Amino acid sequence: MAPVENQSVEYTKDRQEELQDNIKGVEEDISKSYNSIKQASSTKPRLVAVSKLKPASDIQALYDIGYRHFGENYIQELVDKAQVLPKDICWHFIGNLQSNKAKTVVSGVGDALWVIETLASEKTAGLLEKAVASRLGDGEIPREKRLKVYIQVNTSKEDVKSGVDPLTTGASSSDIANHELVKLATYIYTQCPHLHLLGLMTIGSFSASHDPSKPNPDFETLTTSRHELYTYLSSHLDNAKSVLPQTEQEWELSMGMSADFESAIKQGSSGVRVGTRIFGERPKKVKAGDGAAVTK
Ligand SMILES: *Cc1c(COP(=O)(O)O)cnc(C)c1O
Repeated sequence: MAPVENQSVEYTKDRQEELQDNIKGVEEDISKSYNSIKQASSTKPRLVAVSKLKPASDIQALYDIGYRHFGENYIQELVDKAQVLPKDICWHFIGNLQSNKAKTVVSGVGDALWVIETLASEKTAGLLEKAVASRLGDGEIPREKRLKVYIQVNTSKEDVKSGVDPLTTGASSSDIANHELVKLATYIYTQCPHLHLLGLMTIGSFSASHDPSKPNPDFETLTTSRHELYTYLSSHLDNAKSVLPQTEQEWELSMGMSADFESAIKQGSSGVRVGTRIFGERPKKVKAGDGAAVTK
């Protein structure tokens, strides 16, 4: 496994200023979109700076001006960066999570692992549960100490993207009972006391050739999935009242990237994941391999 080439956390003033300008621009656009739909009860979407394939020094530069939420796609790169960077960074794992890497990410990142955004199978949920239990002990743990997860939903139903199928309006209740999103959420609530389901996540279709004045269909699909899931579990899950959030809106929606975060926010995103607009273009990845970042 190739190590990340440059683990130095030293940056130049120029690079920090460039990153600062970029991220301020993104924050302004987030505020504009958010202010256009703002409701008294809602909170401003969280900005996650997606730093994959970018050096640890870029992260340190943003950390030093107050940023804490960073997103990474490759397990080994994340573990390597977490080791050299401050321990109070809130890491978001947003890449494909193979079940055999569940233990590595939990033990390698430790308490700084803020959320796994890409949970898509019971097998991986079970292995994450086991890994967190062996770190924190088998006993009951308070919700805020559990490992947060989003279930990734493949809203565009493309074969190349991972994630469970979305739920649609009007499905029969027997179809819903066997739906993989329902089964995975039920599994988390009933079998994974060390995990906390924070909400749903989607990448969406990059080529969404939809009319930009209309809502993005991927983001609508994610919102519908949340609604259908909440409605179903509210009446079918044991102890639904005590385990589910009080309202469906308390389940977050992680949606929106550099190209589409503004429409995502207008459609109710709780957190956007922005890379290119902050850090610039990424180097091309030449080999996906086992999750290590291998760059030219
Ligand atoms: C790379 C990536 C992002 C950031 O994409 P940009 O277009 O660079 O903003 C967001 N989410 C996921 C899951 C990614 O893999």
